[in-house]
Amino acid sequence: MLALALTGLLAAATPDPARPLLVTVDDLPIAGGSHEDAAERRRITDGLLAALAKHRIPAVGFVTWKNFREGDQALLDAWLQRGHELGNHTDRHLSLTSNEAEVWIADGERARERLLAFLRARGHALRFFRFPFLNEGDSEAKLDAARTWLAQTGQRNLTVTIDDQDWSFEEPWVAAERAGDAAALAGVAEDYLAALRLSVRHHEASGDRLLGRRSPQVLLLHANAVGAANWDRLFTWLEGTGHRFAGADEVLADPAFSELPRVVATHGFGLWDRLAVTRREAEARDEVAQLLARQAEAWTRGDLEAFCAAYAEDATFLTPSGSTHGRQQVLERYRLRYPGREAMGALTLELLETRTAWGTEISLLDDAVPSRIHAVSVVARWTLRRAGQPDATGLTLLALRPRGDGWQIVQDASM
Ligand SMILES: [Zn+2]
Repeated sequence: MLALALTGLLAAATPDPARPLLVTVDDLPIAGGSHEDAAERRRITDGLLAALAKHRIPAVGFVTWKNFREGDQALLDAWLQRGHELGNHTDRHLSLTSNEAEVWIADGERARERLLAFLRARGHALRFFRFPFLNEGDSEAKLDAARTWLAQTGQRNLTVTIDDQDWSFEEPWVAAERAGDAAALAGVAEDYLAALRLSVRHHEASGDRLLGRRSPQVLLLHANAVGAANWDRLFTWLEGTGHRFAGADEVLADPAFSELPRVVATHGFGLWDRLAVTRREAEARDEVAQLLARQAEAWTRGDLEAFCAAYAEDATFLTPSGSTHGRQQVLERYRLRYPGREAMGALTLELLETRTAWGTEISLLDDAVPSRIHAVSVVARWTLRRAGQPDATGLTLLALRPRGDGWQIVQDASM
């Protein structure tokens, strides 16, 4: 009894384990095109590596060869010597959305071979890949082509959970630095840190909500001057808010990373947004299937009012003989044709195909994120069984829109 009570006390006194967070850094050696001076490139790299070292952070850096300048070999060597891992972030940083899959893969493959040679010569392996702009395919075919290439070449898509806009502060930072404007620099630094804090909190809350537990995180940063000057403060804040910097192997071992959701989209999203949209799609399909099942039940028990409640007030109903507008008119049409339960018989609806429609919207953080599901369309086979008559059957195409917390049929083409 005493032992149990003590165990309980100890458990209560132990603080929650810190949240594991992997730091990833894109666009190595130096992001953006505003630092051509070799000494400046060295200074930025040293600043980034010093902040990582001070906070004992094992990072994964992603190399984009178009950012590579003469002499940058030493910069990449410095990342490796400090114990960080390097991954492939393509040659020309092409978006998979705005390029054909073949062109995009050829670019990625060229980069992979170059990085592999670089790493092998230094006794390192190449394991990770990062999609430019986080664009993983705006068609099923592109998404499959990219995933097949990654699988065949043994590269793992190191997905991001904290997608942010850190890169957007580089231009004002560099401008303020070159103007020698200390007040402007301080202002950009505050904005940079505030934006990152907001992104971290937002994406962590989404991850926790989705997983129902403290979600592990992969933070996206860029190798730039604003980062070199401000990462120490960022990392200090992260440490003070319950984070623990962890390596790629530990973070990626979490089951949350075991499967990459299939999200076909023109924009790039973080993993939690991808998981959220696939979950919303599954929910929408389920809700519509249930609505149609309830509708068939209502028909079979002779309740035409309940059957027609699934239609929007201004629904359009088409049959080979013409069209009917409005829920009330649809109800009256059915009442004329099916006077009584016997005439109605038993209805079954077999769902043959369900498609969902969604797009992107702008988040509070000024980023493109998946929207809610705007519409669901269903192809179904309807079958009517009536005593003493042969079965009647046909096809129907239904378009549904969200209404409150449910769905309603706005168009019905039955044949
Ligand atoms: Zn990038």
